[in-house]
Amino acid sequence: MSEHQLKEAIDTLKKTGVRITPQRHAILEYLIQSMSHPTADDIYKSLESKFPNMSVATVYNNLRVFKEVGLVKELTYGDASSRFDFVTTDHYHIICEKCEKIVDFHYPGLDEVEQLAAHVTGFEVGTHRMEIYGVCPECQNRQNH
Ligand SMILES: [Zn+2]
Ligand SMILES: [Zn+2]
Repeated sequence: MSEHQLKEAIDTLKKTGVRITPQRHAILEYLIQSMSHPTADDIYKSLESKFPNMSVATVYNNLRVFKEVGLVKELTYGDASSRFDFVTTDHYHIICEKCEKIVDFHYPGLDEVEQLAAHVTGFEVGTHRMEIYGVCPECQNRQNH
């Protein structure tokens, strides 16, 4: 599954004329496999042993490139540093208020809200954004001990 996603992502880069460097390959692989929503710093830390010449800025620039071709989404939450999400299907995020972990969930039913909003307001709807906040199971456990 993730092999397939990686191959498709690389095809997308090729089609848009983006050069596939070993670093870009590794960053993509990390994004797809981690299933988390890493910051540029998280990615840097996990790859720095493999690419000693790489800096956080390099990681960030590569993420920008991926963002421009639509492979990743940048998630900004207040003043915390941006998280990056490999774009698969539309999904929503639930965010832990204690540890700031972000977990994906799907709820296609909300597409109807766009139709309703368009109908009620006469807007041409582009997209919507929704986030749920709470305390993740791990943090709940920590609280109870
Ligand atoms: Zn948590
Ligand atoms: Zn996500």
